[in-house]
Amino acid sequence: MVELKEVELKKDKSVFGQISEHNHEKVVFCHDKETGLKAIIGIHNTVLGPALGGTRMWSYASEAEALDDVLRLSRGMTYKAAISGLNLGGGKAVIIGDAKKDKSEALLRRFGRFVKNLNGAYITAEDVGMTTKDMEYIRMETEHVSGLPESMGGGGDPSPVTAYGTYMGMKAAAKKAFGSDSLNGKKISVQGVGHVGGYLVELLAKENAQIFITDIYEDRLREVSAKYNAKVVGMDEIYDLDVDIYSPCALGGTINDNTLGRLKSKVIAGCANNQLRDETVHGPALTEKGILHAPDFLINAGGLINVYSELQGYNRESAYAQTERIYGFTLDIFDKAEQEGIYTQLAATKMAEQRINSISKVRSTY
Ligand code: NAD
Repeated sequence: MVELKEVELKKDKSVFGQISEHNHEKVVFCHDKETGLKAIIGIHNTVLGPALGGTRMWSYASEAEALDDVLRLSRGMTYKAAISGLNLGGGKAVIIGDAKKDKSEALLRRFGRFVKNLNGAYITAEDVGMTTKDMEYIRMETEHVSGLPESMGGGGDPSPVTAYGTYMGMKAAAKKAFGSDSLNGKKISVQGVGHVGGYLVELLAKENAQIFITDIYEDRLREVSAKYNAKVVGMDEIYDLDVDIYSPCALGGTINDNTLGRLKSKVIAGCANNQLRDETVHGPALTEKGILHAPDFLINAGGLINVYSELQGYNRESAYAQTERIYGFTLDIFDKAEQEGIYTQLAATKMAEQRINSISKVRSTY
């Protein structure tokens, strides 16, 4: 296995080096002294349509970490839209700051002005650290917001649909790894029981899975544990559990040099974006270890499908029906990976790129 450090050294860590690494179209640094706004909007690719992706607010350890996050996340959105058959490009935004302390109406509306100035090239939505109320403030400044509450004509919280798609992807992975898609009695660890993780645990409990959960917030853990009879485990302990399925539903990068050797599950299927710290290293390493990884951007696409439906006049039933198709797509990706002898995340990326390339040719004749 290639050492992660070696790979990191080869990379050009300058701002433009990072932007060109995955061929991002545009990166906007947003700053406002008055409100304390520091945000980055990443537009990865707009071949299929406007770049859509949520805004995340997080206390990043450094600006470099925030840039890395927005670049990785926006790229993931391009592939998520492409593989789900949506006419959307990939984008994402991050606001640097503590979501519990640093938010204000003015800061959010100032951010909304930056989104507005992109004239629809970027459409934002809710992500980690943001609430429906925050999105309403952003909406006061720009119409390029999706994932709005039902009271404002939107599809509401996309998390239940994301959880449903993740569940479908998990069942497909179980089918491939265990020969049956039933999760009855399966030991499943869920890392992060926030919006999506909470709904996912509900679906797993209905199937009588044995559920293990962890989270930063103890109140939330107690609530989910009591409601669904899930066993609470420590935040670090989760990597050592002897489970059938590990479901990362917090932040990205949890499959890395430190955790890889500890994971014992046969399947990894969760909603978190960018689960592999370094795709080219940790993707093949999982295959080598015999762990079946359901590609994150494929199985967590339910929320995006829901939001996309909103842009065309929201229809909940069709959003769920389209999300259910993730089951079949996931099985197709496993087949492709097997046939081509490649890791599953790469198989999914290739499938998405094929669609983008073929459509870019269609559009070049317009
Ligand atoms: P959320 O903020 O509601 O939940 C995340 C939870 O993870 C929180 O409860 C947080 O306390 C916990 N957490 C953070 N770090 C942790 C750690 N180290 N160990 C254990 N728990 C930890 O966010 P969400 O909307 O549920 O999204 C979860 C993930 O899924 C994110 O990566 C997000 O980008 C991705 N995702 C969400 C959606 C959606 O519809 N909400 C769609 C696609 C992808």
